[in-house]
Amino acid sequence: MKLGEFLLDSSTIQRRVAELAKEIGAYYGKELPTIIGLLDGGLFFVVDLVRQLGSDVRVICWRLRSYVGTSSSGRVCGLEVCQDDLRGQRVLLVDDILDTGRTLESASRRAWELGATEVELCVLVRKASSSGLSCQPRWIGFEIPDVFVVGYGMDYCGRYRTLPSLWALSPAEERIQAAERTTIQSPRCR
Ligand code: 5GP
Ligand code: MG
Repeated sequence: MKLGEFLLDSSTIQRRVAELAKEIGAYYGKELPTIIGLLDGGLFFVVDLVRQLGSDVRVICWRLRSYVGTSSSGRVCGLEVCQDDLRGQRVLLVDDILDTGRTLESASRRAWELGATEVELCVLVRKASSSGLSCQPRWIGFEIPDVFVVGYGMDYCGRYRTLPSLWALSPAEERIQAAERTTIQSPRCR
């Protein structure tokens, strides 16, 4: 494995997830929202978060893709199959990272189209360059620099997800990725 800088250890992440669950619970009170976990990257985060929100909360997942290797392809694929009936529901979208904002913007638009009456956002990490975007989550776990991160559900080509802590990928690994990128296909929307 070629991991670079260590960013967040697993107990710091777990403590923050518990705080976020408390804040979210306080905001919604008895009227818990429909939680939509965005996969694959948000997998571990959404699981840990919703288990602390009680048994009444409705949880669904959408699988969206936009990243190719370590950069955004500029397109968000997978929304066309998200057909859940959200009429009359308050929705909370939960994702791993806010980067360009395209994923959360597109997912929010889809939730409104499906009838949501309120759409809020929660991310585990926000990259520094995305702090000026118009689409801003109400709940943000951590601010991180503009680096490509892996661990706690976040992957590079499917690897490193199972690391309990968050790491930046090393420059050496990034060079390997650049070489590999020629063989990695862009996501194709149906
Ligand atoms: P955005 O649409 O905001 O550019 O990117 C959001 C999605 O891209 C996230 O849901 C995540 O899946 C992926 N992503 C963005 N930055 C990173 C990163 O540093 N590491 C990993 N593993 N995925 C990322
Ligand atoms: Mg994602």
